[in-house]
Amino acid sequence: MMNLTCDLSLAAKYQSHSQQARVLSEGWFLRNVYCLACDADSVKQTSANTKATDFVCPKCSHRYELKTFQRRPHGSLVDGAYASMIQRVTAGTAPTLCLLERTEEWRIRSLTAIHSSFLVPDVVVERPPLGPNARRAGWVGCNIRLDRIAIDGEIAVVAQGVAQPVAEVRKRFQRFLPLAGKSADQRGWTLLTLRMVRGLRKPAFALRDLYALEAEFARAYPGNRHVRDKIRQQLQILRDLGVLAFEGRGEYRVID
Ligand SMILES: [Zn+2]
Repeated sequence: MMNLTCDLSLAAKYQSHSQQARVLSEGWFLRNVYCLACDADSVKQTSANTKATDFVCPKCSHRYELKTFQRRPHGSLVDGAYASMIQRVTAGTAPTLCLLERTEEWRIRSLTAIHSSFLVPDVVVERPPLGPNARRAGWVGCNIRLDRIAIDGEIAVVAQGVAQPVAEVRKRFQRFLPLAGKSADQRGWTLLTLRMVRGLRKPAFALRDLYALEAEFARAYPGNRHVRDKIRQQLQILRDLGVLAFEGRGEYRVID
C-alpha cells in the first residue's frame, strides 16, 4: 500500500529548506513508488547525477526523474540544460519525469508520470541564455512543453490525494513502451497524430477529420510531401498500440 504522508523525521538533521524538501521527496519516492514499466515493486536511487534526483528500476533499467512542487506546472516545465536534454530525447534515453505535488504538511497530493516515450524534440524548447551577471552566464536551459504532450503521456499515479490502482497505472504506461524502440522522428509523427486525435475530442472519428488537419501536420514536418500517407501509417501504429480500433471505411474508434 502506498503511504501518502512523507516521513518528516528524515528532514530532522537538515537545516536548509531545499535539502529538507529533497530528502523528504526522495525518501517518499524510494519507499512508495513502484516501476511503471515492469512489475518491480520499487526503484533505486542513482548516485551518478547530483543535480537531478534520478531513480532507476533494478529490473528493467527504466529511468525516472523526480520533480517536487506545491503546485505543479501544466503548460511548461522548467528542466535542466537544453543541449543534454535534446540529446537524450533524440537518442531515446530521456527519463520518465515524475511530478510530485505535496501539501504544506508534506502529504502527497498527486504524482504524475510524464512518459519518457512522449519526450520528443518538439516538446523540448530552448530558453534564452543566462545573462552576463548570472553565476552561470551563457548557460542555456530548457522548458518541457507539457501542453504539446497528448493526455495519454501524462499518467496519474496519485490523483487528488488518492493512489490509483497499480494494474491500471501500469497498463496505461506500458501501452506506449513499444514507442521506446523507435527513432525520435518516428515517435514524433505518432505522438503528433495521437495529439490531433485527442484534440478532436470525439469517441469516434473519420480519416477525413484528420485530413482536415493536414496543414498542421505539414507545419510540424515542412519537408514531408506525403502527409496523408504518413497519417494513415500512424493510425495503424496507434491501432497496434491499442489506442484505436479500425471500424472500416475510414472510420476509427478511440479505445480508452
Ligand atoms: Zn522496471
